[in-house]
Amino acid sequence: MKFSGKNVLITGASKGIGAEIAKVLAKMGLKVWINYRSKPELADALQQEIREAGGEAAVICFDATNEEQFVEALNAIVSADGELSYLVNNAGITNDKLSMRMKLEDFTSVIDANLTSCFIGCREALKIMRKQGFGSVVNIASIIGEIGNLGQCNYAASKGGMIAMSKSFAKEGGSKGIRFNCITPGFIESDMTKELKEEIKNAYASNIPLGRFGKGEEVAGAVAFLLSDYSSYISGEVLKVNGGLYM
Ligand code: NAP
Repeated sequence: MKFSGKNVLITGASKGIGAEIAKVLAKMGLKVWINYRSKPELADALQQEIREAGGEAAVICFDATNEEQFVEALNAIVSADGELSYLVNNAGITNDKLSMRMKLEDFTSVIDANLTSCFIGCREALKIMRKQGFGSVVNIASIIGEIGNLGQCNYAASKGGMIAMSKSFAKEGGSKGIRFNCITPGFIESDMTKELKEEIKNAYASNIPLGRFGKGEEVAGAVAFLLSDYSSYISGEVLKVNGGLYM
């Protein structure tokens, strides 16, 4: 891959899709900043794995919903490396309940974790990237933000919001060449989908043209493309990584 920058911050990267994104981008030569919130042991193990494979990695702790912590972390990265080349807003949660039983707090906590954190990241990245004159941001939304799902009105709203918000940022960043794109994964193997009952997983998989759940590294490949110079004329776009489930 062709990258004009040298580093990338991935939020929520100590496990799951974020960790796979970190491994793939490190393999491609970027210094990866692994953000974690609650599990330093996982982040440290990932950093070691990347270093042993010959890559460069650093660990940074913050809660992506906390504006002050997020801003401080970005300042620390720019102080250390002289730039923030790329950002992947990956941190996210679910809290599924049928809408009639969903408390306001169940709704707002998911909006905060998924959409508000992404807003803070995009806004701060845009400030930094405008000054340096280059940069690219990829937001990990979801197929659920495109098609909705029962029991997930909070998650669907947060992910649909990320898609619309990314397009707005793409319009604001365009004049300086700063690109914002979204990826909408379908069903991907991770802790987030591990809780699903086997029969439900099989029912979902039977509707997927490729016949299976995706892997984190398959999302990571799409992230690498959208960050890299190979996608230099793509901004405000939504790239589906869903095995054909929604086309
Ligand atoms: P995961 O295994 O549950 O990982 C989520 C990560 O986000 C965890 O490391 C978690 O850290 C971190 N996180 C959550 N809130 C955070 C916060 N406020 N600040 C910092 N980190 C935070 O889930 P995943 O499947 O890899 O999901 C990654 C992203 O892909 C999410 O945005 C998710 O919505 C999206 N996605 C997943 C699928 C799928 O099928 N798996 C499909 C579509 C989209 P802690 O462990 O410390 O909480």
